[in-house]
Amino acid sequence: MWSLKKREVAGKTIRGGCFDLCVIGGGATGLGCALDAQLRGLRTVLVEAGDFVSQTSSASTKLAHGGVRYLELAAASLDYGQFRMVLRALHERRHMLEAAPHLAHPMELLVPCFSAWERFYYGAGLKAYDGIAGKARISPSRILSRREALDRLPGLRSEGLAGAVTYADGQFDDARYGMALAQSFSRLNGELLNYARVVDLERRGDGRLTGVVVEDRLAGERFSIAARAILNCTGPFSDTLRQMANPSLAKRLRLSKGIHILLPMREMRGDAALLIPRTEDGRLIFALPWYGSLLVGTTEKEMAPDEEVTVRAEEIEYLLRYIHRFLDTRWTRADVQSAFAGVRPLVACGGKVNTRRLIRDHEIEVDRRSGLVSVLGGKWTTYRAMAEDGVNAALRVLGEAPVAARTLHYALDGAEGYESGYWQKLAGRYGISEGTAEHLAQKFGTRSEDILSLIASDSSLAVPLCAGTAAIAAEVVYCVREEMAQTVEDVLARRIGVQFHSLRQAWEAAPAVGKWMAVELGWTEEQRARAVTEYQTGIDRLLRMAGLPPALLGPAAGPEFDPKGPGEDHAGLHRSH
Ligand SMILES: Cc1cc2nc3c(=O)[nH]c(=O)nc-3n(C[C@H](O)[C@H](O)[C@H](O)COP(=O)(O)OP(=O)(O)OC[C@H]3O[C@@H](n4cnc5c(N)ncnc54)[C@H](O)[C@@H]3O)c2cc1C
Repeated sequence: MWSLKKREVAGKTIRGGCFDLCVIGGGATGLGCALDAQLRGLRTVLVEAGDFVSQTSSASTKLAHGGVRYLELAAASLDYGQFRMVLRALHERRHMLEAAPHLAHPMELLVPCFSAWERFYYGAGLKAYDGIAGKARISPSRILSRREALDRLPGLRSEGLAGAVTYADGQFDDARYGMALAQSFSRLNGELLNYARVVDLERRGDGRLTGVVVEDRLAGERFSIAARAILNCTGPFSDTLRQMANPSLAKRLRLSKGIHILLPMREMRGDAALLIPRTEDGRLIFALPWYGSLLVGTTEKEMAPDEEVTVRAEEIEYLLRYIHRFLDTRWTRADVQSAFAGVRPLVACGGKVNTRRLIRDHEIEVDRRSGLVSVLGGKWTTYRAMAEDGVNAALRVLGEAPVAARTLHYALDGAEGYESGYWQKLAGRYGISEGTAEHLAQKFGTRSEDILSLIASDSSLAVPLCAGTAAIAAEVVYCVREEMAQTVEDVLARRIGVQFHSLRQAWEAAPAVGKWMAVELGWTEEQRARAVTEYQTGIDRLLRMAGLPPALLGPAAGPEFDPKGPGEDHAGLHRSH
């Protein structure tokens, strides 16, 4: 079985090692670059300051898309850069769907129209979107009558509705997609380590970089890694690394925060998704079915690099206000199951003032003095194309002959042998509930069998982690043994997704996760209790700061929750390392 090495083993191999390429950052960009480089024969190591995919790459809207708004911007401002970005993303969208069919699937989105002009405008725009996609089109857009729109999206507000336009994009599980990239890289003998922050860069007398100094945040030690080329894939943190390599470089990034919330589906039955095409501040808002709940987002607000990444009560109210204009169901903050915030790393260009107008395209920068290659900006959807460009630049820095990228048709971990209805086979073969079979298949693909084989030797691993969740104890054991999970959050958030689905369910599942992690990682009783308490305290803080009801309702939970009142403390859902 090929999997991520145990962390201590990986640490020993990497420590003092000598590599062709060192990738800094374990988000979509870094993991994509590492896989691409290793496939092209470069001996590659990746180091990540926190957990893999723990920053922007697990806080996206989870759409593999060209971006209908960017197409509109391209047309309105005759901006060829925006157009080129949409074109490339539409082709990469197909790759995302094919490379990991257990983690990505086509999704139909419905744009409600309130006049004949809107039906014409959005209909024509989405036909252009189809046309640009060409052979990479998923399915053709359609113009719907008022009746057809209401049938397609139960729960849509009918007052003033003239009809709708539907079109297709892709939806994917961003956190698991990142883990599949990590696993795929590892099975090609790539080396990677989480909780390993680059704190300094090593260089020759002429300033050329020769390696990185890493702080192992769990062991509390520092060590060096020698590498012939260094790739900066640190997303929103890219300027810090660029200036570490060459202090004379000017900052390039503009940071823009976006939040999402998870709501119960209620009347929004079925699989159709809603796109609200225009808000008063000129944005789009999506309401998308997501593992049986409704994912709503996003907001957009420019932020300073040192600002805390938080979900604020007023941001949640903003999203609720908009979806209430388009959907019949009423939700309050008390209904919010989960919420998360992320930071877009946008490349500043020209004199554009508003981050909403900045192109989501990427840029490869090679610093002549240090040789640092930075992969800046971009989107999840274009991660593969960004990796191709980034590794091409790294090959040039290395003075190597060009080698073609091999990622376009490369099946990611868990995709081999996967087919629709795979979960039914799992349920039949292993006698597990349909809910658990579906959950495992959607998160781990054909790797599910590795998880289920653990139950054969210990049936207590078949137990759900808490009431109402499909996730089972065997996943915790698998994620520690095979996916380098080190904390309760690593498991409940990025590995099995319970935290993104429901903060309260994650709070409840924490003791069971702590129990199994303690067995696997040899924690003392004190370490186990601390790990669980720290996690639950973190969730309590997240809920409180976002103005959401506490995990533990009742007197122990503190002051009574007021679903209408503003959150008092705006420190919010925190992301940092
Ligand atoms: C609200 C929102 C919605 C979005 N929706 C979509 C969408 O629907 N579709 C889409 O295609 N794109 C979407 N995006 C964009 C997409 O999520 C990002 O472009 C992408 O995730 C960026 O990945 P990254 O790897 O560059 O950055 P990150 O995921 O932030 O990864 C950078 C990593 O570098 C690490 N790091 C930083 N400093 C160091 C150091 N010194 N040493 C080691 N590691 C370090 C960090 O810990 C981090 O994990 C969205 C973004 C946001 C914010």
